[in-house]
Order: sequence, then structure tokens, then C-alpha cells
Amino acid sequence: MPSMLDAVVVGAGPNGLTAAVELARRGFSVALFEAKDTVGGGARTEELTLPGFHHDPCSAAHPLAVNSPAFRALPLERYGLQWLHPELPMAHPFPDGTAAVLSRSVGETAASFGPRDAGAYRRLVEPFLPKWDTLARDFMSLPMTALPRDPVTLARFGLLGLPPSTWLTRRFRDERARTLFAGLVAHVMAPLGGFATGAIGLVFALAAHARGWPVARGGSQAISDALAAYLKDLGGSVHTDYEVKRLDDLPPARAYVFDTSPTALARIAGFGDHYANYRYGPGVFKIDYALDGPVPWTAPQARTAGTVQIGADSDEIGAALRAASREGRAPDAPFLITVQPGVADPTRAPAGKHVFWAYGHVPNGWTGDLTDAMERQLERYAPGFRDRILARATAGPPELAARNANYVGGDIASGAVSGLQLLLRPKLSLFPYATPHPAVFICSSATPPGPGVHGMSGHNAAKAVWRRLRQT
Ligand SMILES: Cc1cc2nc3c(=O)[nH]c(=O)nc-3n(C[C@H](O)[C@H](O)[C@H](O)COP(=O)(O)OP(=O)(O)OC[C@H]3O[C@@H](n4cnc5c(N)ncnc54)[C@H](O)[C@@H]3O)c2cc1C
Repeated sequence: MPSMLDAVVVGAGPNGLTAAVELARRGFSVALFEAKDTVGGGARTEELTLPGFHHDPCSAAHPLAVNSPAFRALPLERYGLQWLHPELPMAHPFPDGTAAVLSRSVGETAASFGPRDAGAYRRLVEPFLPKWDTLARDFMSLPMTALPRDPVTLARFGLLGLPPSTWLTRRFRDERARTLFAGLVAHVMAPLGGFATGAIGLVFALAAHARGWPVARGGSQAISDALAAYLKDLGGSVHTDYEVKRLDDLPPARAYVFDTSPTALARIAGFGDHYANYRYGPGVFKIDYALDGPVPWTAPQARTAGTVQIGADSDEIGAALRAASREGRAPDAPFLITVQPGVADPTRAPAGKHVFWAYGHVPNGWTGDLTDAMERQLERYAPGFRDRILARATAGPPELAARNANYVGGDIASGAVSGLQLLLRPKLSLFPYATPHPAVFICSSATPPGPGVHGMSGHNAAKAVWRRLRQT
């Protein structure tokens, strides 16, 4: 290692790894330090239950990664990353045994909403699809890390997306489309009536039509391993089992980039109450299952989808989100996001067996057990599910926070995705990656564009860092 590095990155989640890669690609010397014994953060894979069952303890479905302008510019396939596409990106079954779907095809999606809403859905998404790549880049580079390439499309998207999702779904006359859309918003744990929540639903829908919601062959660890291998080829070094507690723990460098929560950064860098107003959101209760066979969904569409949303209607989904985020209690009927990677990736479990995961929202720091409520929900849509369980690994907020310091109180979004904090995080600033110290930067999902495996926070932060390094 040189006596003075150009950049040190703390945290090897998708954003820290991307920031490190982007800097190394531009010829800067980079070292990366990670607290855990493997790289990956929220993109990792482990045998959590039984031998031969490869679970993704965190992210598993990757609409944001496969559509990420940052990842698409990196040669990750050369380092082993392979996207596998289920027949359907997502299905949302209903208690009557039917399902709405999010398909690669706009027509199939629209048809699943029924004749009264098919046209409204087409009119909503079709104008954006030809411009999706530019829109994704502009949207994910906000605020102001680059001038928009297509400001008109971005403004049109903003007009639709900035109001609450409940305004946007008024254009649908029936509950099927409204329910599926409410579920999309709930992926980032945002209250359905919150500012800019329409944009969240739209991004997930457009991402499905553009490039699908794939899983990574072998597990999400493949994304992190590809980034780390590329970083090493570029001359960067990776140090695991190295929890950073103070800036003095790190070697001398011209810039420090933190893939951590703002709270941890303030503690490590001595920023006092600089981020004291930063709010954390609800937590989740996550279960990883080893199953004796596929999930016995009643709705046939759900059997072919990578992701399956569980919530009877938009009221039930809204009530579950409100209970966890505002009322300080676990929902009676939790809204569930579930992923069954085995429908696309046979390498995850022994022949005929499956891994499956599900999570529901609970209050930040909640210490209860949601297993029974979650399995009751699953049995409504997949009778006989419990009989297929070989083993389960559960993790509530305390376990999630112990697994990854960024999930404060079990908040997997590393900060509430509500109010202005949805877009302007971790502070109200046009330079969100900068901190009170000119050589210290933050790049985690506590910065725009927020949670998800896309590396764009790392990419945007790296731009701020290399501009500074070139000035000095
Ligand atoms: C249960 C669950 C399901 C999810 N599902 C999906 C999904 O399907 N699709 C999707 O796109 N996203 C999903 N996410 C969200 C996604 O995983 C995160 O938004 C993403 O990983 C954030 O990336 P990051 O790099 O900002 O932080 P992280 O991935 O959280 O990585 C931060 C890293 O920093 C390390 N670190 C923290 N503090 C220190 C320190 N002091 N010293 C050294 N290292 C430190 C941590 O150990 C960690 O490795 C899910 C998350 C969870 C928990």
C-alpha cells in the first residue's frame, strides 16, 4: 500500500464497492475496509439454514441493479455475474386465487388489471419506456451531480411522481392495479400517501418493463464478488474483518468515503450532532426458508414469478405500513414481499428443494416475533405452505442491526424514506455526499438515490470525490 492513498472506502456494500471501483478505474489508489468477514453488505449469500441451501439474507431481486447506469457501465459479467430472469418479474395474488402481474410486457401487465384499467396503465408507462435509460440516469443522479440529459422527460416524470402514490392510483378504477402499485411503493417502506411515492412505484414498474427483475446466479453475493474482483484487478485492496471505529483506524489518505449510516459516520469522524435530524424508518422481520418443494401458490402466475407481493388490497397494505411506521405496533396482517429465486436459478438448493424469503414491516427496534402472522398470510395464498418447511432462519430488527450496522433499528433503507428525506438525504443539501470535513464523504443508501442494490450512491459520491482529488 502506498504511504498516502488517494482514497479509503469504509464499508463493502454495493455502494462502497462501486465507489471504490469508480475511483480505481480513474487511476486513483484505493483501499476498502469492511467490518464483516466477507464483502457484500446487503448483497450477500449464506447457507443460513441447511447445507446446500444458499440464502440471500438481504437483497435477492434486482430490478435496480440490472437497470443501474453505474453497474451497466462495469464489466461485471466478466467477473462471474450472471442475471437470471424468472418467467414473470413479479406477481400479486389475490384471495380469490387470481393475480395481477408485473410482466416484461406492458400488454400482459395491463391485461392482468382488467379491462377498466388496462388503458390507463398503458397511458401511464408507455410514454416513458423509449426514454427509460436517460430517465433512469437523470433520476438516479439527482440532486445535481449531473445536469439532466432530458430535462423535459424528467420534469414530466416529476409531475406524475412527486405527488403521493395515492393520487397517481386514482387513475385506476379497480382495486387490482391499485393494490399492485401500493405494493411497489411499499418496497422502500414509504407511506402510500407520502411525498414523491408515486415515483417509487413508477420506477419499479418501468424497470420491470425495461430489463426485468432478475436474480443473480448463485445468489446476490455474486454481485459483490464481481465488484470486489474487479476492484482488485484495478489495483485496489480489500480488507475484511476490520471495523472502523475512529478515523485514526485508517491509513493516511487524501479522501475517505463512508458506506455507513450517517449516525456511525458522525461518531467515527467526530461530527457531533451534524446528522442529529436524520430519521430512521420502520424495521423489517425477515424469514429465510429451506423448503421441500416450490411454494404451493394458488394463483398459477405466482408460481412463475421471482417476486411475489402479499397484501389483499391497498387498504390492507396501507394499514400494515401505518402500523409499523406511525402506530408503533406490528401489523395484524403484515404486507409481505417474498422472493423465490429457485424459479430462475436451480443452483440455490439441492434438486427439487427451494430457498424462499419473506419480510414484513415492523416498528424500528421491535423485538417481537412475526413468524406466525407472516405464515398465516402465506397460507392464505399458498395453502399447505407450512408443510413444505424444512428449516427457517428468522431475523428481526435487533438481528438485522447486528448483522449490518447500517440497518439501524432494523431499518433496511438506512433512513426513513418519507417526507423530503426520500429525495434529500442525509441532509437538505445539493451536495449530499459532502460532509463537514472536506476530505470525508458519505456514499451509503442514506444518500440519493436511496435504498436498493444499484451502486448509484457510490457512483455519485465517487464523482464528488474525484472532482475534489483533481482540485487538490
Ligand atoms: C432483508 C433485506 C431485503 C432486501 N431486499 C432487497 C432487494 O431484493 N433488492 C434490492 O435492490 N435491495 C434490497 N435490500 C436493500 C439493499 O440490500 C440495500 O439498500 C443496499 O445493500 C444498500 O447498500 P449500501 O452499500 O448503501 O449499504 P450496505 O449494503 O448496508 O453495506 C454497508 C457495509 O458497510 C459495512 N460497515 C458499516 N459500518 C462499518 C464500519 N464502521 N467499519 C467497517 N465496515 C462497516 C457493513 O458491514 C456493510 O457491509 C434489502 C435489504 C434487506 C436487509
